[in-house]
Amino acid sequence: MQQFQHYIGGAFLDGSAQFESRDPATGHVWAMMPEARGDDVNAAVDAAQAAFVSPDWAGMTASARGKLLYRLADLISEHAPALAALETRDTGKIIRETSAQIAYVADYYRYYAGLADKIEGAHLPIDKPDMEVWLRREPIGVVAAIVPWNSQLFLSAVKIGPALAAGCTVVLKASEEAPAPLLEFARIFDQAGFPPGVLNVITGFGAECGAVLTSHPKVDHIAFTGGPETARRIVRNSAENLATTSLELGGKSPFIVFEDADIESAVNAQVSGIFAATGQSCVAGSRLIISNKIKAAFLARLKEKAEAVIIGAPDDMATEVGPLCTLGQLETAVDLVAKSKAAGATVITGGQKLDRDGSYFPPTIIDCSQAPNAPCLTHEFFGPVLSVLGFDTEKQALHLANDTAFGLASGVFTKDLTRAHRMIRGIRAGIVWVNTYRAVSPIAPFGGHGLSGHGREGGMQAALDYTKTKAVWLRT
Ligand code: NAD
Repeated sequence: MQQFQHYIGGAFLDGSAQFESRDPATGHVWAMMPEARGDDVNAAVDAAQAAFVSPDWAGMTASARGKLLYRLADLISEHAPALAALETRDTGKIIRETSAQIAYVADYYRYYAGLADKIEGAHLPIDKPDMEVWLRREPIGVVAAIVPWNSQLFLSAVKIGPALAAGCTVVLKASEEAPAPLLEFARIFDQAGFPPGVLNVITGFGAECGAVLTSHPKVDHIAFTGGPETARRIVRNSAENLATTSLELGGKSPFIVFEDADIESAVNAQVSGIFAATGQSCVAGSRLIISNKIKAAFLARLKEKAEAVIIGAPDDMATEVGPLCTLGQLETAVDLVAKSKAAGATVITGGQKLDRDGSYFPPTIIDCSQAPNAPCLTHEFFGPVLSVLGFDTEKQALHLANDTAFGLASGVFTKDLTRAHRMIRGIRAGIVWVNTYRAVSPIAPFGGHGLSGHGREGGMQAALDYTKTKAVWLRT
């Protein structure tokens, strides 16, 4: 049985306790994970705080920090196959997705490596002839980075990259559901040559590890990705240390298709928009809002494609949809579909768990046109389940798109440019993809509105968010 360790102050350490990790494809325990309790969390934060003020890190030039990040990116590329395989093993995310994602994880680190020496202050043209005033941009301090189990190498890269580029230090808390990839990532990070304590990687349960970390007096900023309920707890915890927060939360993203859209391209985008990562993706286009003029034909083509998706073992390159990460999520999917049917929704395909070991749930499409309050339309949950609503007018499409407390991503499919612009203006979400879906780049900011959180990851703004300004007044 494999054993994993924490990474604290540059050393690999056992936790105060241990817990089991299960293989989602078989349901069997495959590894033992270290569990961080209060003392482990305190040690990790102390190490990050000591590193933050150490001459080795605080005295390092920005370009030297950038060079270390470039080295880290190269090491990730070198170890990409092993990291991808480990993520697949622990989360059940299919190997073709983990392999593709690890390539752009390295690209995010390269982007922030290049930004390290481009985070500039400012000179202020103040109205006093004998005074020079300027703004220094300084690192915000010790960052608590907390991530969920899905896409964790990516979701931690968008925090660690800008934080280290800005000169912060980090305690990264991996999700208890599947911490192996990040605990292994720590071993790769260790080879890059950063001073000890600049990054610390721990895992444990929210109630103790997460709570101690987010209320810790030495934590200055909390960068969180996860669900809204956890975000509320974290914000309450941060009342203790008054740390700033950035919150990347869930979504219930609308995927809007007008009658003039390129149907084949919209169908393909919808298939990957909802079924990629077995639906376990915060930007999943989980609400199809479709013109009634093409609804029947579109759904027929979508059903055909959904039923042709190859379901299989996550480590098989041919697999397109693998198991859900946990049995709990499988139960949630089964329950929400059953409740939606009871509320009057019609299952077009899928809807029942597969008769095999592991937490497999098939691509599912549910028409909710007669059940506008069906729970699958209103609840954010991680599963390959697409809810469908029809519309007659553009106004109605926009109303349905915004009829959610979330506001993370959205997709609009139309050939009418003026209509596309009206929709871009009207949609309440942090991302609008027009005639495409799921496009990402390190340059483009990513984040949401409403219950989807606040703050942005990616792009220059994210690096600035890991800094605070100091106003300097100098009498000449
Ligand atoms: P979760 O909120 O249950 O857990 C996320 C992390 O928070 C885990 O590491 C967990 O241990 C930790 N945590 C739990 N309680 C805590 C506490 N009291 N204090 C501090 N930390 C605590 O989320 P999950 O089920 O692992 O992931 C699914 C959620 O994440 C979904 O809502 C999904 O939409 C969201 N998500 C958002 C994005 C995004 O970028 N917007 C990306 C991926 C996932």
